[in-house]
Amino acid sequence: MLWARLPLCSHSRPSTGGWQPLRFDGGAFHLKGTAKLARALLVLRLCAWPPLVTHGLAFQAWSQRLLGSRLSRALLRASIYGQFVAGETAGEVTDCVQQLQVLGLLPLLAVPTEEEPDSTAKTSEAWYEGNLRTMLHCVDLSRALVDTRGPARNSLMQLKVTALTSARLCKELSARIQRPAGSSELNPERLAEAMDSGQNLQLSCLSTDQNQHLQASLSRLHRVAQHARAQHVRLLVDAEYTFINPALSLLVDALALRWNRPEEGGPWVWNTYQAYLKETQKRLERDAEAAHKAGLAFGVKLVRGAYLDKERAMTQLQGKEDCTQPDYEATSRSYSRCLELMLRRVSLHGPLCHLMVASHNEDSVHQATKRMWELGIPPDGPVCFGQLLGMCDHVSLALGQAGYLVYKSIPYGCLEEVIPYLIRRAQENRSVLQGARREQALLSQELWRRLLGRKV
Ligand SMILES: Cc1cc2nc3c(=O)[nH]c(=O)nc-3n(C[C@H](O)[C@H](O)[C@H](O)COP(=O)(O)OP(=O)(O)OC[C@H]3O[C@@H](n4cnc5c(N)ncnc54)[C@H](O)[C@@H]3O)c2cc1C
Repeated sequence: MLWARLPLCSHSRPSTGGWQPLRFDGGAFHLKGTAKLARALLVLRLCAWPPLVTHGLAFQAWSQRLLGSRLSRALLRASIYGQFVAGETAGEVTDCVQQLQVLGLLPLLAVPTEEEPDSTAKTSEAWYEGNLRTMLHCVDLSRALVDTRGPARNSLMQLKVTALTSARLCKELSARIQRPAGSSELNPERLAEAMDSGQNLQLSCLSTDQNQHLQASLSRLHRVAQHARAQHVRLLVDAEYTFINPALSLLVDALALRWNRPEEGGPWVWNTYQAYLKETQKRLERDAEAAHKAGLAFGVKLVRGAYLDKERAMTQLQGKEDCTQPDYEATSRSYSRCLELMLRRVSLHGPLCHLMVASHNEDSVHQATKRMWELGIPPDGPVCFGQLLGMCDHVSLALGQAGYLVYKSIPYGCLEEVIPYLIRRAQENRSVLQGARREQALLSQELWRRLLGRKV
């Protein structure tokens, strides 16, 4: 239930005088129902409790044994699943998205598929083909959910490449790409040609099985991109671990050659850049310039990065130099520089350059809105904001009400599949969940205000 069904925000310039910082003080919570606020407070408090995050899967198994599967499911649906997931069916997802749209927020659907490298079922060609069908359905749903008649109201969805191709192959490709001499065969043009023609790839650096799997993966990626383009849905490709990211970028570059040509109307395939990596700013600069020189549109989802602990553990294990920024402040400085770089490019290259500021961080959001105003970038133009469903609603709602384009990243799917995914994400985002204290304080303040019947 919504607390108040206000009309959708107007997508005009947020301020006519000077730039006014948005107020992330929970004022926009008046738009939400009491039950939803209470659930958010409860779930965020639970998620900030480290043992629950560390032993989440064990807690789930234990609650199933103790309470039975029906009651345990009901509890999860009323709490964690209900807070962070849109639902299981297209109907449930539609309901959730409609509620967000009333609040001025847009959907960014994400299929929470996770490969299990040690499982033969979850690394088989049949599994990737099943994921392809799910992705194509996600494109249809993304298209159906957004009213694209208004200006710049694009449908966007997230795409996880390792749902369509094996992480093992990506690791192999990445290792080859990173060798000093590289491999001249591994270039976007060659892969784009194979995607378009559907003819068998014969890369000498890969075995017959690997060539076959790469060809099948290229064909799946091509089908998703082709369908997304036909349905006017822009694909935001997720960044993952550094040991597979070079391969993911190679595949994005191959897709970009076909789908980011200016005559296609802006970038249809975007890459994600993780500011917590030391090399990211240089890479972003180089890629933006390369796209510009090649006459291609360029789309970027800018994040801080989700796999910090595992990245560090892996480099330590391998005795390599740490590729991540030394501390949180360095990551934030890197984010700020990448943001500035992209905003300048957007102001120069307009609709050919798109950016999603995917962050819950209030300083980053302030920086983005301020610089957008100074550079004359309209709030409903090629720059948008992204936050996770169920997280930092005080930031999302304030942005949405001020007329900015705000997308909530929305996982959906059956409870049994999504809960392990959520627990893994929570483990990777421990610092974010523990840092959600301010959101908890604002939620609690709003709930007390309602309980005591005070006016805002
Ligand atoms: C729409 C959306 C899409 C996303 N897609 C991706 C994706 O494709 N790939 C991906 O990796 N992540 C993705 N993320 C997650 C993102 O990378 C962050 O983990 C998350 O958003 C938290 O960062 P923040 O800026 O929101 O919050 P903040 O709380 O300001 O930042 C937390 C982040 O700071 C960094 N950090 C924390 N402590 C340290 C430290 N000691 N040293 C160095 N850095 C530190 C970490 O990156 C941590 O996640 C996505 C997030 C959103 C909202």
